[in-house]
Amino acid sequence: MKILVSACLLGENLKYNGKNNFNEVVAKLAESFELVPICPEVLGGLTIPRLPSEINEDRVVNSAEVDVTYEFLKGANLALEKALKENIKYAILKEKSPSCGVHKIYDGTFSGTLIKGQGIACSLLEKKGIKCYNENEIDKLLEELN
Ligand code: SF4
Repeated sequence: MKILVSACLLGENLKYNGKNNFNEVVAKLAESFELVPICPEVLGGLTIPRLPSEINEDRVVNSAEVDVTYEFLKGANLALEKALKENIKYAILKEKSPSCGVHKIYDGTFSGTLIKGQGIACSLLEKKGIKCYNENEIDKLLEELN
């Protein structure tokens, strides 16, 4: 079975600061599942490194106040396209990211304040029926798959 995964959780240096969010528990799932890595921000054409971005109402804006909504939407759509093409039903996405966040995102003020909400890619994937879990919900995902 295939699972879509935020590529930074698998150790790929794709984060805005050129680093990764390697997570051993997620990486270990490769022993039992086919993990399909995606990075919506890079798919959307953003560079590594890049300025951090946050969702502000219906736009995504970076810390220099440049609107990057187009790139975020493009990346989300390409991630969805890949998931649909490969008939993927589940995703493990990096919490708090403006693309991948599953339950929490930053509030758009660049003050480190978290609010309830989803990243642009996560929200699109869920709308199209792909169930998204964050990196701390692997037990929950495995329960669902059993
Ligand atoms: S967009 Fe998602 S996959 Fe890419 S670096 Fe950010 S959290 Fe990781």
